[in-house]
Amino acid sequence: VKLPSAVPPAIRRLTEALGFTEDPVDLMARLRGLYQDVDQAVRERASAHVFDCKSGCSDCCHESVFVSAPEFLYIASAIWTRFSVTRRQRLLDEMLRLADVFEDELALLEELGPGKERDEVAARIRFRCPLLSESEACSVYEARELNGRTFGMSWDSQGNRPFGCDRTHVRLALYPDAQLAGSLYDARQARRELVARLPGTETVHVYPWWFARYRAFLG
Ligand code: SF4
Repeated sequence: VKLPSAVPPAIRRLTEALGFTEDPVDLMARLRGLYQDVDQAVRERASAHVFDCKSGCSDCCHESVFVSAPEFLYIASAIWTRFSVTRRQRLLDEMLRLADVFEDELALLEELGPGKERDEVAARIRFRCPLLSESEACSVYEARELNGRTFGMSWDSQGNRPFGCDRTHVRLALYPDAQLAGSLYDARQARRELVARLPGTETVHVYPWWFARYRAFLG
């Protein structure tokens, strides 16, 4: 996503509401720099294997996708830049509907600290991402979140397993874990890099939570 030289006033206000004092253009440029580094590292480390991750597959967009404030800001900016008012409103309506459907889970996630219980609640929040187009492509692909960049072709050093959907697990089932851990990029490292490079990235929520909370800046 090409960042606009003039950020829409709503995005500037959203930046402040999210608690950032940095100029949104600079903040998003830093995030984009991290995304480029991660994309390259994931691709290079995954090149020894064959994956099903390609245009047309959207399995990972039906999972619980968690994003931090700067990631959400980047998505919001992309939406403001390329969506019509009507399309933005439709997207917002669907996000609000999902926030309603998962109201209990979202409330629980705000109370629970990291751990098994939180993971179980998070796993219950499954929906088709409203940012998916009718052709099953991400409508904000270049601005998609960090998890969307690593999921499917990397390694989860915390869970000690491939970081991906069922297809990825089937694809890699033939290889010993030790070999995969040594060859694939560590998705946890990407998250650590994000936290080290950008403020406000420790806390994550699903898209409907962000859209519901900051709806005033998105309609
Ligand atoms: S933002 Fe795009 S990549 Fe991320 S879950 Fe939604 S459709 Fe998929």
